[in-house]
Amino acid sequence: MGGEPGLPAGVAGAGIIGLAVARLLARSGVPVLVFEKESAVAAHQTGHNSGVAHAGIYYQPGSAKAVLCRRGVGLLRAYCAERGLPWDERGKLVVARNDAEVARLREIERRAVANGVPGLRWLDPGGIAALEPEVTGLAALWSPTTAITDFPAIARSFAADVTAAGGRVLTGTPVTGVRRRSDGGVDVITPGERHRLSHLVICAGLHGDLVARLAGDGPSPEIVPFRGEYLRLRPHARGRVRHLIYPVPDPAYPFLGIHVTPRIDGDVDLGPNAVLALARQGYRRRDVSAGHLARLAGSPAFRRLARRNWRAGLAEMRGSAFRRAFLAQARGYLPWLEPSDVEPAPAGVRAQAVDPDGSLVDDFRVHRIGAVTAVRNAPSPAATASMAIAEHIVSGLPPFLGSGR
Ligand SMILES: Cc1cc2nc3c(=O)[nH]c(=O)nc-3n(C[C@H](O)[C@H](O)[C@H](O)COP(=O)(O)OP(=O)(O)OC[C@H]3O[C@@H](n4cnc5c(N)ncnc54)[C@H](O)[C@@H]3O)c2cc1C
Repeated sequence: MGGEPGLPAGVAGAGIIGLAVARLLARSGVPVLVFEKESAVAAHQTGHNSGVAHAGIYYQPGSAKAVLCRRGVGLLRAYCAERGLPWDERGKLVVARNDAEVARLREIERRAVANGVPGLRWLDPGGIAALEPEVTGLAALWSPTTAITDFPAIARSFAADVTAAGGRVLTGTPVTGVRRRSDGGVDVITPGERHRLSHLVICAGLHGDLVARLAGDGPSPEIVPFRGEYLRLRPHARGRVRHLIYPVPDPAYPFLGIHVTPRIDGDVDLGPNAVLALARQGYRRRDVSAGHLARLAGSPAFRRLARRNWRAGLAEMRGSAFRRAFLAQARGYLPWLEPSDVEPAPAGVRAQAVDPDGSLVDDFRVHRIGAVTAVRNAPSPAATASMAIAEHIVSGLPPFLGSGR
């Protein structure tokens, strides 16, 4: 199984997950080639996110998200301490604004306790005011260990570890074909080259389903990209909030709602919302890919998703109402917020997997097809969980790949 020992293993995608996997393989003595289509690592989700190292609050106890986020945040914290990378335990408030949200927040507290999140405290309005005088709410859950960090810097450090251990990170090298060999190994085709590998791990984010299909995996789940747009507090308003402030999420969606996100560089962002992107790398509203739209139109899974979420989707798509809708949500807990307090900030695009019945895949999902391992769903908190996801993937590989030699 898994081809000849001694051949390199390959990783498609130099985001934080691909690099965490490559690092673990390279450090256990496996020769590794990482293929990245862009000219630099961390060019997509890893470089366009909220920068939050999640403590593991929301996730269904026992789910891959819950288990790997808790393990991953500890590993990442230790890694950042060892390498002198930014890690600021700023702390986070999840704020309930009415009785229905208080009831939902109690359920979130129960999950967080079951997941082993440390230091949690339930706050009444006085407790909220003591921590954040300019935030209003009926109740809040306080998580003191939720941190902010710099995921692109972590990814670059992982890439340096791969190289230091003898592996290679080939930027500007898209995977255009994958052939599983009869001897159990796999060939990866890049422009002008064919690479003979023992195994391939696909961590291609927004293109994860397409690359998995090149390797013979099935079409489901498909990736439907959702843009996450941010607004940035202008300098005069920045000092009015100190911690991460989140609403109570809508249980119908896997997204966390518009939140206040202090950045490691001192900026403070509001966001992200969740808007259907009209291209896989559709960072701007005007980014539209005819091929992507045609694929969506022909996808039964997407049509079922759209039918279920038509009203919410349309409301978010209307460009002129964007800032008003955004501010209205944030005013639920920042009542003083005015349009003059914010300016646009760069967006990210989420690789959200959708099952054939049109439901958004909530948990992480990894497929094995012979010598190919394909990450099919790795949304937030996968950056936080990346080192634990890598352990999980590498422990499932053939022994000569996953263990030291
Ligand atoms: C708006 C937003 C906010 C988020 N906030 C957080 C947060 O606060 N905390 C958190 O933990 N997570 C957060 N996430 C999720 C997190 O960013 C992702 O889970 C994580 O970055 C996924 O990493 P990845 O390596 O799978 O994907 P990516 O970083 O997208 O990397 C995939 C790579 O594969 C490459 N690739 C694609 N196709 C090919 C090909 N054919 N050949 C070669 N290379 C290819 C791409 O160019 C890309 O570099 C957020 C995500 C978004 C979008």
